[in-house]
Amino acid sequence: PAPGTPLLEVRHAVKQFGGLRAVNDVSFELRAGEILGLIGPNGAGKSTLFNLITGVNPATGGQILFAGQDVTRLSAGQIHRLGAARTFQHVHLLPDLSLLANTMMGGYARGRAGMVASLLHLERGEEAALQHEALRQLERVGLGGQAHTLAGNLALGQQRILEVARALVADPTLLLLDEPAAGLRYGEKMELVALLRRLRGEGVTILIVEHDMDLVMSLVDRLVVMNSGEKLAEGTPEEIRRNAAVREAYLGV
Ligand code: ADP
Ligand code: MG
Repeated sequence: PAPGTPLLEVRHAVKQFGGLRAVNDVSFELRAGEILGLIGPNGAGKSTLFNLITGVNPATGGQILFAGQDVTRLSAGQIHRLGAARTFQHVHLLPDLSLLANTMMGGYARGRAGMVASLLHLERGEEAALQHEALRQLERVGLGGQAHTLAGNLALGQQRILEVARALVADPTLLLLDEPAAGLRYGEKMELVALLRRLRGEGVTILIVEHDMDLVMSLVDRLVVMNSGEKLAEGTPEEIRRNAAVREAYLGV
């Protein structure tokens, strides 16, 4: 989609877990080329919203459109093939496999066992193509020189960057990052921010959940603030800083 047109539209999304409305009537748009921050206290429903958008856990109400198509009832694999790729709040890597093998798994949007099985059943030509693409993405994020290192040997910051490379293998138009800077040291955070800015420059639209306010405020174009499953506010970093409801509920000032 052309820059500025809606790439993702979340309309009145609801997710009910028994008696709990983890996501309660949330609506917002993400325009192509934008970096949108999703913030809110623990338990606000941010990861659940990611699961709705990526088909990991379907919505119980409302509608989600991606690139103009209704994806509300599509599977995670179908949404992934349409061009939305994500990372998870907790690192999902196979520590005993190389960076290259971990990155290649981004070519599949299934469970871990499914991804390993898929790798084992690739045709030679497919495997070579996927390997080439994985190497290209490792180079893109600055990990090309360590392609044959085991993922478990990386520092946490590099593991999180590796997860971005794995998501990029699918050549996504939308990248969803769930707390990618959690546990990172300052220098690692700065590297991550530089990478995300570069990706945006290359046409990737980004939705990011992040608790580090300095990081998120310096990175994003706009923010959506959630609290108790609901959208509390939406706006530019400046507008959010000034928003009285946000300051009270979230920033605690
Ligand atoms: P956040 O990512 O903003 O911290 P979550 O989306 O993880 O919040 O969680 C929102 C609420 O939904 C929490 O109260 C959490 O316990 C609940 N929740 C999340 N996933 C499930 C699930 N699979 N089953 C039941 N409750 C869940
Ligand atoms: Mg979360």
